Amino acid sequence: MNKVLSFFKENESQYPIIKNIRVYGWEFEYDHLIVSSLSKYLFEDLDIIENIAPETNENRDGRIREKKYITVHDTGDTDFRHTAKFWSETVYKQGWEQGPYSASFQYVTGNDGIYHNIPDNEIAYHAGDSTQFDYKLYDTNVTGENEKPVVTISEDGYYEVDGKKTILLAPRAYKTWKEKVVIDRIAKTSDINDQGVLCKLIDGKYYIGETYYSSTYEKISNRGGNNNSIGIESCITVGTDIYLTWQKTAKLVAKLLNDNNLSFDDIKQHHYFSGKNCPQTIRMNGFWEHFIDLVKMEYQVLQFKKEGYKIELSVNDERVKANGRILLRDFNKDDEIEYTISTIKDGVKEELKFKKVLKKFN
Ligand SMILES: [Zn+2]
Repeated sequence: MNKVLSFFKENESQYPIIKNIRVYGWEFEYDHLIVSSLSKYLFEDLDIIENIAPETNENRDGRIREKKYITVHDTGDTDFRHTAKFWSETVYKQGWEQGPYSASFQYVTGNDGIYHNIPDNEIAYHAGDSTQFDYKLYDTNVTGENEKPVVTISEDGYYEVDGKKTILLAPRAYKTWKEKVVIDRIAKTSDINDQGVLCKLIDGKYYIGETYYSSTYEKISNRGGNNNSIGIESCITVGTDIYLTWQKTAKLVAKLLNDNNLSFDDIKQHHYFSGKNCPQTIRMNGFWEHFIDLVKMEYQVLQFKKEGYKIELSVNDERVKANGRILLRDFNKDDEIEYTISTIKDGVKEELKFKKVLKKFN
């Protein structure tokens, strides 16, 4: 068995994920049944629809910045009319039914496609962290060897790396409301956003990124969202297949990681840059780690394709689409679906049979 088929064998599960989730929008919330696909890899090409906003747009900043992150959002918009095309046009036209629209993002994904609105290397207005501060690293004066250090805050307000106090003062928790100061104190570890503070190990020394206290969401957050990340909105439109949108988004993220030489750690939630609960539906239903798994799968398959492998799915079951999406109907307990993944390279074809058991569905 070649390495591609071995990789699929290691990463395919016998049972699909079947879970009822809550989808959160500002108009309304709804329940939605998530059924995962045959494979964590979505068997379709990445098709990007170019709809770049005019340079004269005020929501197209135009300044070029190095990209250090991919930022994942969801639209928080459940209205059935508000598809990816709709949101792409909203950026393009700088307006929608509620008036002028001043935000922007590089991409928006949905069942109806992946739209590209702002060039990847430009600043866009999606992360809520302003454009005044670029990605920057500060020397902590703490040495170590941990590639994934944890940043906390000491009682007197300094950042700590894996418990070792640094020379860097964390931002103060400070907020005003109607011209009155309502929060003014030394920040605590619990004020840090869920995804933490940027901390890099370089030549045996830790460096911490540019941070600030977001008074809107009352969280210590990281800078560089608008300037140094590629922002992706994902639609949660009612009536659409949310899991398909997640898979399309994962495929896009994998391509952008590849193109910008970024790692899986560089995929961030909007939350990381402002403390906002976004992408809310993925966060609230505990699907972030699974989403990252989808990206890892897409990324590896992209590497195999670059090596010249052609990879195909064959399934002869009307309950499954050609791209591997299991349709949300017609299942009985203990039903099984058989499928084959094949590879072709240098004229040699190999294949492997798989089986999915829908046992947990009832
Ligand atoms: Zn967001």
